[in-house]
Parts: sequence; structure tokens; C-alpha cells
Amino acid sequence: MSFESLGLSAPVLQAVAEKGYTTPTPIQEKAIPIVLMGRDVLGCAQTGTGKTASFVLPMIDILAEGRAKSRMPRTLILEPTRELAAQVAENFETYGKYNKLNMALLIGGVSFPDQERALERGVDVLIATPGRLLDHFERGGILLNDVKILVIDEADRMLDMGFIPDVERIVATLPTLRQTLFFSATMPPEIKRLADRFLSNPKEVTVSPPASASATIVQGLIVVPEDDKREALLALIKSQDVKNALVFCNRKRDVATLHTALKKHGLNAGALHGDMSQPARTETLEKFKAGDIQILVASDVAARGLDVQDMSHVFNYDVPFSPEDYVHRIGRTGRAGKIGHSFTLAAPFEGGLIEAIEKLIGTTIPRIEVPGLETATLEAGDGRRRGRGGRGGRPGRSSGGAGAGDKPRGPRREPRAPREHREPRPEVSAEPQAAAEAPAAREPRPERAPRERRPEREHAPREHAPREPRAERAAQPPRERNSERRPERSHERRSEPRRDRDDGGPAPKGLGDHVPAFLARQPR
Ligand code: AMP
Repeated sequence: MSFESLGLSAPVLQAVAEKGYTTPTPIQEKAIPIVLMGRDVLGCAQTGTGKTASFVLPMIDILAEGRAKSRMPRTLILEPTRELAAQVAENFETYGKYNKLNMALLIGGVSFPDQERALERGVDVLIATPGRLLDHFERGGILLNDVKILVIDEADRMLDMGFIPDVERIVATLPTLRQTLFFSATMPPEIKRLADRFLSNPKEVTVSPPASASATIVQGLIVVPEDDKREALLALIKSQDVKNALVFCNRKRDVATLHTALKKHGLNAGALHGDMSQPARTETLEKFKAGDIQILVASDVAARGLDVQDMSHVFNYDVPFSPEDYVHRIGRTGRAGKIGHSFTLAAPFEGGLIEAIEKLIGTTIPRIEVPGLETATLEAGDGRRRGRGGRGGRPGRSSGGAGAGDKPRGPRREPRAPREHREPRPEVSAEPQAAAEAPAAREPRPERAPRERRPEREHAPREHAPREPRAERAAQPPRERNSERRPERSHERRSEPRRDRDDGGPAPKGLGDHVPAFLARQPR
């Protein structure tokens, strides 16, 4: 099938041709005609499938008719992260270059006045993260009752990040008579229920089994004691032909620590996480995309949708808490039919997480040994460290026996010498052979059991704002300590911009949202 047969206009087809795309991807083939017809779409598709263009291309054509009024966007696209929002904006620029469309990007970390000016001019396409959009809405800077098309992208990610209440508030302010396009990589019951509420007689479009790993990704798993992870990662990077790589950590503080360590070892590394300012995030990402940074250590902010050409490797320094995130992380490589490599470093206590991943992807990740490093054995469990506190606690070093971590621990060992001072190990070569067999060894995926609630999130949330000192928390009245969760009443105005949870910034302190009027007055 060709793009010409989908019903798109000549200017859009020309922009697509200039981008070099000749054949629509399956999601584009299925969704574009439905969107052009004006029907609601319930799309089950992963990033990397061409999902963005499947809604951007027909939207450009629909928007060709009509004009936007000041502060009244004609279409609204909700994205869970700033990076994804920026990528959708890039798509509009690429494919809409022969159409005169006004676009505004409302994401956290970018100047408010610039965004207000863009809204004032009138926008055809508004791309936003939920928090920043609500900020503008509550300040009266935007009216949503002219929105004709709503896109909710990465709905399952919105759920994971706790954005669903914000999304519900936004949708409640939109006209009921509208076209809604709802995309999610997975369809757990919570997401399906939401889709049922937001969509009207939608056409369902599913392009690949939810959360399956691409066959072009050669996967490998290295089980090592937690304290050996850094050494194992360095050995892997040295032994592999790494053109560019993402290294994922579960926690922001580990991103920063690992980034510093890799730089100390002379690697061209950068860091990306939700605590960085938006300009710093954008700059780092641009450098990585341009090849000026070879290895990007990142939190899950980078796990979904990031589209970096020909990424050769993904390393999971931590096993992700959610098995779906594993699929998203490794999906940054092996794109567009190219072979990519993913290596996961697991400590024994992460055995339960590996088990969940292997259940989801329906295959066993091939085990790989790093010569010179002790291999450990995975233990059953929930993926929480057994040691006290964070990294560096000894979570039960296993010398091969299963369940060693469950044994009562003896006296604490002397702390090790800093890794930098240890004897260099011989050059290693990880066995890509073993990993290379992964796709062939794949078995048919068993029927997926209904997704369970994820208790591990309670214990290990994705990206926490730093906790305030106990004394400061105790000083707040209990209701206000939870002010971030309390739904606001419409008459309440925020004096500070809302932070998207993705910002990972500090929680409100002191009076929370209840600022007495005399304090909130602006100094002249
Ligand atoms: P997405 O799923 O929207 O993140 O897209 C994944 C990648 O596929 C991006 O690099 C797109 O530019 C690319 N892409 C989108 N549509 C096509 C197409 N029809 N042919 C080839 N590549 C495409």
C-alpha cells in the first residue's frame, strides 16, 4: 500500500516523500483513513511503529480548513513527558511544512510568558503535558471549548506517572462533541475503562501484540552481585562495538552517580533525568542525537518514544520495576529493522523482576557471563534491596547457591576499596554469541495473564521528589501535607506554576496551596 491511497492531501504527501518514507507502517495504514473520516480511534501500538505520524498526518489535513481564535486551540495533544511532546511538535514541523499551522508546545521548564504569547496568537495545534496545561488553564490563559480533536498519547504511561486525574480534569473541560484519538502501548483494565469513558464508538486499531520485544533486539542478561554492576557495565562497554548507548537507572541519584563514574573512566557520557532543567535536558538530548555524546545515562524519562537514529546499545543498569518498561527501554534500539543490542545487569535481589519480564515477553533472556567477574544467582523476591538503604548495601552476595540472600547475614565485611583503586581486570569479551541466539530461541508468546496491580510501585516509585526533613514535614497540618493530591477547587488560583510529576521537583513546603492573600500579593 502507498501513502497516496490513504486519502492524504498533496502537500502532506509531498512532505512525507521528502522525509523519505514510501510505505505507510501498519498503524498508519489502518489509522489514517479512520482519522480522516472523523471517527474516534482506540490505538494499541508501541512507539517505534510510526504511531505519531498516524495521527499527525491526518490532523494536518483536517486543520487545513478553518482558523484558530486567540487562546482557543483547535486541537489538543496530551503527552506524558516533555521529550515526547517535543517530538510530536517536530513531527508537525516536518510533515506540516507546506501547511500554515500555528502550533504551541506547553511543557514544564519552559518560560510561561513565551507560551502565553503563543496561545494569544491562536493555535491550531496545542501539544502539552497535563500539568503545564492545567496551569495555563487555571490562570485563565487558555479556553478549551473550541477543541475539535483530542489526542491522548501513551495513555498507559500517563497512568504510570499518576497523570490520569489531571487528564480527567482536562477532558471534563472539553466539548463533548469532538474527535478523540487514544493511544496506548498496553491496554490494562484501567486504561480500557478510561478509553470507554472518553471515546465514542471508536474504531480499534491494534498493530502488534502489546509489550512484545522486537525480534531485531539481541538481548542478554548478566547476573552479578550489586557492587559489581559498575565493573560489569564498563567491561561490556569496552568489549562491545558501542556506537551510541542509553544506560537506564531506576533512580535519579543513581543516574548522576553513574554518569560521574563513567566520565571518570574517560567515557563520553551525558545524563538525563527529571530533575534537570528543561534547557539542560533538551541540550543533552540534542547532543546525544547528534552523536556528540556517546553514552547517555538516563532515568525512565528516556524510556518511551525517544527516537535516536541507529542506537546500537541499551544497557539496563537496574532491572526496571515494571516489565513493560523493559520493553520500552530496550525498544530504543533495534528500530526500523536494524539490529540492536540490549544488556541487562541484574543483582540477585532483582530476580522477581526478571521473572516478570520473561513472563511478559514470553522468552528467557539469554544469560551472559562477564569474564573475570563473579556470576551470581537470581533470587525470588519483589526486586527490593535487602540491604539497609540504597546502593552499596550488601544485598546478599551469592556464590552460586540459590537463595543465598535469604540466609541470615554474618558480620558486615570491611568496606571495599574504591573501585578505581582495585587491580585492573584482564580485558574481557562478553559473548555476543550467546545473545545473538536470542531471537531464534524465541518461543510463541503464551496468552498474557490479566495485569495485576503493581505492588512494587508502592515500595519503589519511579522518580521521587526529595523528602523534606522530618521536622519540616511535621510542622505542616496533615491536610496540607497532601495538598499536591487534593483536587483544587476552581476558585483557587496557584501562585506558582504546577510541576509535572515528570519534573521530579520538590513537593510544596510550608503552607502548600493555602497561601494567605497577604502573602500571595506580588511586590510592586
Ligand atoms: P514513532 O512510532 O512515531 O515514534 O515512529 C518511529 C520512527 O519511525 C520514527 O523515526 C519515524 O520517523 C519513523 N517512521 C514513521 N513513519 C514511517 C514510515 N512510513 N516509514 C519509515 N519510517 C517511518
